[in-house]
Amino acid sequence: MSIRFEVVARDGAARRGRLVTAHGEVETPVFMPVGTAATVKAMTSEGVAATGARIVLGNTYHLMLRPGAERIRALGGLHRFMNWPHAILTDSGGFQVMSLAARRTIAEAGVTFRSHLDGSLYELTAERSIEIQRQLGADITMALDECTPYPAPYEAVASSMELSMRWAERSRRAFVERRGHGIFGIVQGGVHPDLRRRSAEWVTQIGFDGYAVGGLAIGEGQETTFAVLDATVPALPEDRPRYLMGVGKPADLVGAVARGIDMFDCVLPTRSGRTAQAFTRRGVVNLRNAQHTDDPAPLDPECRCPACTGYSRAYLHHLSRAGEILGAMLLTTHNLQYYADLMSAMRVAIEAGTFAEFAATFGRAA
Ligand SMILES: [Zn+2]
Repeated sequence: MSIRFEVVARDGAARRGRLVTAHGEVETPVFMPVGTAATVKAMTSEGVAATGARIVLGNTYHLMLRPGAERIRALGGLHRFMNWPHAILTDSGGFQVMSLAARRTIAEAGVTFRSHLDGSLYELTAERSIEIQRQLGADITMALDECTPYPAPYEAVASSMELSMRWAERSRRAFVERRGHGIFGIVQGGVHPDLRRRSAEWVTQIGFDGYAVGGLAIGEGQETTFAVLDATVPALPEDRPRYLMGVGKPADLVGAVARGIDMFDCVLPTRSGRTAQAFTRRGVVNLRNAQHTDDPAPLDPECRCPACTGYSRAYLHHLSRAGEILGAMLLTTHNLQYYADLMSAMRVAIEAGTFAEFAATFGRAA
């Protein structure tokens, strides 16, 4: 028995679901904080869990280079290593190989590349990616795919998608079934609806525990992202979770949930927390701005996170101006709380059958 997924309520195309993994249940739609190098940056695992998060994302590329997947396995797996008892999804490493590694060569077998840390040579095949994710102990493993550059000529996007589909077949075969663990396939095909539909049919035919939409949020714009979802989501199975990779801004999440997406990850809330950008119910606030210097008000009066209940905007402004580590910690906590609360509000609205209203109100406030 791999991971289980049930849809408990629907409102239009939006779904309210529950994912059951070896490390607990995850209520969907869900946002997964990104724990790149076995840490959600500037956060303790307890702090991440306190925001309500029950699943985080780990990065295969970073962990295979440092400290190494074999070492993490020997130390009891990624859950124990980073003291995170809840679910973990790991990516395949493909995306970061393309964006970070030096001198990479893509062949039918996989990607060879040099580490951006010390220049040493690695090969990442579909089979090796799945093995690493097993060593890490991922509850959800991702198939290896090639993230096609954007923009790219149609023929290049098509052949890249086909390579990803052949890697998906090999990833599926390499995956070892374990109770509470599953593997997701990834739809590619750039911004072309016909390629996306072909990829969705292909990956569904292979048969995965869940389906991701990859290769978006790399500069194509929200309208195009949504158009790709409109072409892709109807071609995916109704009874399996759908994951939009690397997205996104709060308004992107609302629009994608409206189109039937269940899972998200993005570095935006954590990265923004380290650059003094805060997401609030009244829009994005830059705490470096001088207007906060003497402001005793909380960052977001409706937020129950430690940054908003214990501190003023003036204090958060002071921390960010002084370059204090606590500023990054408090603002990351707040941003993850904001994202968790947004997902929770969407789940409530779907259950109540008021999601369209919620989305319209959210659109006006943003
Ligand atoms: Zn807050």
